[in-house]
Amino acid sequence: ASYGFRAARRLGGIGVSEILAIGARAQAMGGDVIVLAAGEPDLPTPAHIREAAAAAVEAGATRYAPLTGTAALKAAIIAKHARDNRLDLTPANIIVGSGAKQVIHNALMATLDEGDEVIVPAPFWTSYLDQVALAGGRVVSPRMRAEDGFRLTPEALAAAITPKTRWLILNAPSNPCGAVYSASDLKALAAVLCDHPQVWVLSDDIYEHIIYDGRRFATMAEAAPDLADRVLTVNGVSKAYAMTGWRIGWGAGPAPLIQAMAAVQSQSTSGAATPSQAAAAAALDGPQEVLADHLAVFDRRRRLVTAGLDAIDGISCPAPDGAFYAFADIGGLIGRTTRSGTRLGDDRAVARWLLDEARIALVPGAAFGSPGHLRLSFAAADEVLRQAIERIGAAVADLP
Ligand code: PLP
Repeated sequence: ASYGFRAARRLGGIGVSEILAIGARAQAMGGDVIVLAAGEPDLPTPAHIREAAAAAVEAGATRYAPLTGTAALKAAIIAKHARDNRLDLTPANIIVGSGAKQVIHNALMATLDEGDEVIVPAPFWTSYLDQVALAGGRVVSPRMRAEDGFRLTPEALAAAITPKTRWLILNAPSNPCGAVYSASDLKALAAVLCDHPQVWVLSDDIYEHIIYDGRRFATMAEAAPDLADRVLTVNGVSKAYAMTGWRIGWGAGPAPLIQAMAAVQSQSTSGAATPSQAAAAAALDGPQEVLADHLAVFDRRRRLVTAGLDAIDGISCPAPDGAFYAFADIGGLIGRTTRSGTRLGDDRAVARWLLDEARIALVPGAAFGSPGHLRLSFAAADEVLRQAIERIGAAVADLP
């Protein structure tokens, strides 16, 4: 008998994320393909952070760390949230994981029963969908509208809640569309949740420091303190400090939730890598000017890319309020036919055509629950971005 491979039913239709798959396809094409698919700063991790990690390793930070994080990193996280978000936390409120992504996984695994619902407004970061599915939950996805700045409205939230709702996932500044909520926007959502004590809020703040035009960042636990005993604030060092490869993120929330998440973590990773925790503590405790330096770079690229895309016939691209993605409306390209006779029936077809013809890898909006768009990550060198815009412009101009 042959015992072929069979994936667990739990895995359902979940594969490797579409974003990673597009990146891999582009790499395989080789040559001069410009890949603006993944959300990863091209900047190096600042020197003082690298040096702190090297010194920690030399000093013996090479063993298992405590399950929910080292004392030094937890202290740095508590100080960060007091400084930036006016949150009053203790070590029992914190769990450090291998990236914000793993922290979210822990939270969903620790709380969802089969059939429980999670509200994930669209456009959303693709991983939320698969993470909820892996944990046995069901996604309910109200569509946010461009007219509302791609923000969830209190009415849409109220309509999405059922007795089975366990979580609302909020992500601002948003990947993919850069939407930002003011404190009063959040208060209005919190007012709806007051009547539904079964609903907790997972606030994914990973892009907190990448926010433009002097806008002030707001997060739910700060804007609605009455709700704080059912809010999990998720954050990390990946995007703000250019530390994606170190794999450090954390969750801050009520101690019973943190304990349940720790139970999941204790049987998966046993906790985040010790040297990386030293690096993250150095990032949070060290000079914060690096945040402004990185922001200035992203802001310059934001203007370059959105102005360039918006000037192309058939593409409309407002400048995002935060994060480092241009989320372009390509409604004007859909339905056109290429010189080789391919009909650009939807955003996936447009992305495919741009990859084949213009040698640019972008992610179709459908991957984020928002067809009719393309997402371009501008966390890449200015010169690369200029070339990308030029190629897209030339390809579109060449459409018959
Ligand atoms: N949340 C959002 C919205 C993201 O875009 C990303 C990364 O792409 C993450 C979380 C994951 O960050 P980390 O590197 O901390 O796992």
